[in-house]
Amino acid sequence: MARIVPPVAELMDRLARAYPDAKCALDHRNPFELVVATILSAQCTDARVNLTTPALFARFPDPASLAAADPADVEALVKSTGFFRNKAKSIQGLAQRLTAEFNGILPSDPELLASLPGVGQKTANVVLANAFDVPALAVDTHIFRVARRLGLSKATTPEKVEADLCRTFPRASWIPLHHQLIFHGRRICDARQPDCEACPLLDLCPTGLGKIKDPHSGKRLFVDPGPRLRGPGETGDRRLEEPRPFLQPPVSSLQAPPRIVSLVPSVTELLAQWGLATRIVGRSRYCIAPKWIRATVPAVGGTKDPDLEAIRGLAPDLVILETDENPKAVADQLTALGIPWLALEVRTVTDCAKAWLQLGRVVGREAEAKARAVALKALLKARPRKAGPRALTLIWRDPWMAAGPDTYVADVARQAGFQPIGPDRYPALTDAELDALAPEVILLPTEPYRFNARHAAELRKRFPEAEVHLVDGQAMTWYLSRTEEGVERLRALAAEPHP
Ligand code: SF4
Repeated sequence: MARIVPPVAELMDRLARAYPDAKCALDHRNPFELVVATILSAQCTDARVNLTTPALFARFPDPASLAAADPADVEALVKSTGFFRNKAKSIQGLAQRLTAEFNGILPSDPELLASLPGVGQKTANVVLANAFDVPALAVDTHIFRVARRLGLSKATTPEKVEADLCRTFPRASWIPLHHQLIFHGRRICDARQPDCEACPLLDLCPTGLGKIKDPHSGKRLFVDPGPRLRGPGETGDRRLEEPRPFLQPPVSSLQAPPRIVSLVPSVTELLAQWGLATRIVGRSRYCIAPKWIRATVPAVGGTKDPDLEAIRGLAPDLVILETDENPKAVADQLTALGIPWLALEVRTVTDCAKAWLQLGRVVGREAEAKARAVALKALLKARPRKAGPRALTLIWRDPWMAAGPDTYVADVARQAGFQPIGPDRYPALTDAELDALAPEVILLPTEPYRFNARHAAELRKRFPEAEVHLVDGQAMTWYLSRTEEGVERLRALAAEPHP
């Protein structure tokens, strides 16, 4: 059977829009650190490698020191990445060869690079692309799966899939495409449970549309792509325009809904900022701003477990959700009750512009939304260019929990010039994992956990080299209503003179 290949330009456009933050997930400061981290990432998650390498590079910062190390010390430091004896041997062999033959400098020549101990073709491609900006398209497990599901290749080995992709896509796109496909595999096109319903590529994907069997599982998937909501000049990105099958009945009949229930605290505040407070007929109990809303608008439970019967009793025209804040089950239950809902998705500061426009269209505040999106764009243009200190944002104590680099909170820090570190999403960290991150800056938002001066003092004692800052939790975490304030406050913090 012939391959069903999606239109290449459309595919590239949608991936670029869906994953503007796609980048190498392995923390590194130079080509040597990247090649070592890439070797350690075999059969191991990037998040785990990122927890391991700070201590390794603090002890052995260059090829010469690693080459001369006691192998037992190296093994102990990389043990948590698995297959540690082989990996320790590989990175030491690499360091010894670099020291003996290359003056301690990693070569950028593809053949020389691939000939080094522990560096196969795939590792060489990752390093060439990310350290030397040489177009390359290394195929890892995510790209292998996604490419085959999208009908971009029918090959059964990573090398042949790579060859198909390189033939299909222009050379200039290989580096960003590599990261975008990995992000897509991690966030949407999961190995066992691809979230086709939420996929921005669904209508281009022969697997999602059931035209071919899933090459990964051998089963047939099918999801109805439904009508596409497009306006003049808009792309067909379902995730931007209609993140999930959210709005029922159609958008046109929901213009300026008179009865709104908001289950997102910062959206409730945003609606009040847009002069829509009188339309809010219900809120989650965490919706506490503006202050008077607690006395005038009934609460309908929490964000994870709202009281569906109470919501139904309010007869809303629209319930507003956010995909991180509210579980999908809530949306499913609303659908079952026939209650229209809209779920926003905010993972980055730039997502706020999209969410404002999406919400503004639905609630009849397009002009306000556009003005705010334009102002935010201008604010973000002024982002500091210099890479700032490695910053860890903690959000909980007992256990320690962090906001990873792919979260909104970390992106606020990024827009202020900090380099967010740690595993993605909201991981719990053991003491050893926290120590291994070796942050240069620690940010302690005052919510959701009530971090205070005592916690800051505890962390200063633990990380005497790091700066520890208590920061306004609402400014940092209330996307949409306080986005600009969060970025400006952290920029002011970053600009303060540091010891
Ligand atoms: S539609 Fe489904 S199978 Fe196809 S790329 Fe999207 S998530 Fe993967």
